[in-house]
Amino acid sequence: MRAFKAHLRGLSPYPYAKVEAPIKLDQNESPFDLPEALKEEALRRMARLPWNRYPEIHAEGLRRRLAALLDWEEEGVVLAPGSNLLILALSLAAEEVLDLSPSFPHYAHAAKAAGTPYRAVPLGEGFALDLEALLAAFTGGVLFFPNPHAPTGALFPEEALKALAERAREVGGLLVVDEAYREFSGTDFSPLGRDNPHVAFLRTFSKAFSLGGIRAGYLLASPEVAQVVREVLPPFVLPAHTGAILEVVLENPGYAQEVAAYVRQERERVYGRLRQHPLWHPYPSHTNFLLVRTPDAAQAHAHLLKGGILVRRQDRYPGLKGCIRVTVGLREEMEAFLRAAFEVAYA
Ligand SMILES: *Cc1c(COP(=O)(O)O)cnc(C)c1O
Repeated sequence: MRAFKAHLRGLSPYPYAKVEAPIKLDQNESPFDLPEALKEEALRRMARLPWNRYPEIHAEGLRRRLAALLDWEEEGVVLAPGSNLLILALSLAAEEVLDLSPSFPHYAHAAKAAGTPYRAVPLGEGFALDLEALLAAFTGGVLFFPNPHAPTGALFPEEALKALAERAREVGGLLVVDEAYREFSGTDFSPLGRDNPHVAFLRTFSKAFSLGGIRAGYLLASPEVAQVVREVLPPFVLPAHTGAILEVVLENPGYAQEVAAYVRQERERVYGRLRQHPLWHPYPSHTNFLLVRTPDAAQAHAHLLKGGILVRRQDRYPGLKGCIRVTVGLREEMEAFLRAAFEVAYA
């Protein structure tokens, strides 16, 4: 094959293999579907749409609504079918992608697919941020920084972000704070971008808003940065039916707060129980998942799967030897998980 760019030859597929199991705790999804009444309202609005017509070119109606809701400049909002697509667009546009290691694997994947130069700064002992090294490495380009952090669940302090935001301004780069898990940490770093066009924010409807299957996310940025991202994305990128669903959830955001409140409480309960485990070590989390260090991730994963529980292995990432990641699910699912986890201790 000589049709494609040479850099795509060594690309490995996104690290996800579908496995069936009755208790699915492997993708950081919400355990609750969208409330029935909201689903029905969304379906009614979808039925009223003219399906033969293209949607608005930049989802202007929704963009206006989000901008008003968040008190953000309208031209700085970009909606897309999933924040992963915004990550790809930013990676295509970027002169260089700077990442943490370990981090959300799509940053590296997108940079490689885009053929954009890529570097990653390792986290230190106990997943501590090496701020000095990161500041020194950030000489331009786009820095993807998930906070709360995936896959560790850690929340890095606001002072670190402030320093990175100032560094971004100084070197003319762009700090992209990925706030996919913000509802579970109760944080909002967007004030850092209000007077600094070198900081942008990624948000998603896939987690607390329980719309993983719908694919929707957005970028909050300066109009100048948003303009570049819009240029890279195809026009009419947000489907009309997705827009109808998002209208309904933005009018009724209360359920997402309930999902987040449940997840936070259940996460702390499960964390407390796992701390009693003689062999497994859970890390504190500000997200809807727990990272757990076990003596052998393959064994832990297989043992849980035998009990019908699917979690995600994380042991292939740097510094994550023995680690598995478990999404916070329903109470009874977490009870089944804990029972299986403690069987290991007594096996
Ligand atoms: C889940 C997640 C996302 C969400 O991506 P979508 O494409 O919007 O589903 C983004 N960033 C991180 C770090 C995530 O964990």
